[in-house]
Amino acid sequence: MEEEFFERRYLENVDACPVCGSRQRQAVYEVGGGVMAQKCACGGYYCDHRLNPEGLSAYWQDYQNREHSAVQEECAMRQRMYAVDYAYIAQFLKPGAKVLDVGCADGLFLDWFAAAGHECSGVEFGHEAALKAAQRYPVQEGYFPDLDIAPGFDLIIFRGVLQYVHAPRSFFSKAASLLASGGHVYVTAQPNMEAFCHQVYRNRFRFSLTPCDCVGYTPQSLAGEFAALGCSTVGQTFFYEETPYANPACDIQAVSRAVEAINRGQQPQEPSPPFWGNMMTMVFRKD
Ligand SMILES: [Zn+2]
Repeated sequence: MEEEFFERRYLENVDACPVCGSRQRQAVYEVGGGVMAQKCACGGYYCDHRLNPEGLSAYWQDYQNREHSAVQEECAMRQRMYAVDYAYIAQFLKPGAKVLDVGCADGLFLDWFAAAGHECSGVEFGHEAALKAAQRYPVQEGYFPDLDIAPGFDLIIFRGVLQYVHAPRSFFSKAASLLASGGHVYVTAQPNMEAFCHQVYRNRFRFSLTPCDCVGYTPQSLAGEFAALGCSTVGQTFFYEETPYANPACDIQAVSRAVEAINRGQQPQEPSPPFWGNMMTMVFRKD
């Protein structure tokens, strides 16, 4: 589905870590077409090619209809995932909290917060998605670090967003600057590059790096970034068995086949299944 965006005319070279700027790196595997996944000493991972401005605008313009809400069954699963994500963060929220969802898509995750009486708003880069969300919430369309947003939020959400951003620190610092004292940042549905499946499957990891999903983090790398901004880690979990995607008996067998393939000196052929540790969920509090 995404491959059409990986033509060279849509790509630009990345020769330094987009998180810390270091040029020291270790190529960990080939993503495809000569594009490599790199590991940085900061703990982050990145793809050495990513979408250029033309590619970004082509990719995100109609993402909402092309990918996000294209398959009904996937949308139903995502709704069940929203319930899991909401239940976890709800324990950190005070009544009537001011909530900002960065990359709010069509606003369906915000619906959970609105239903509980929280004051919701969103930011969205994709035009179609922004229009949709704006039917129910105040939504600013555009690039989060550049937007003029009044501070004072109790919760800022990055749900499945940070793997796409080209300048992560500008997102982290913008979020920290918009938080009220004691406010929280919620990072969830975030691929964990330290996951056992990423180590085993590499470019067959379901959430592998690509020129689109171009940056990867580990729990430690994210915690370090937010600590530098005066935000401490107050929650960390890895949803799997409680998700609608889990099928532990089958998933364990699939991973076992992959490990056996590697032991024979081959690469796993199937993509990685849902598994413990694949996705991380973290909560940071501004002290
Ligand atoms: Zn780095």
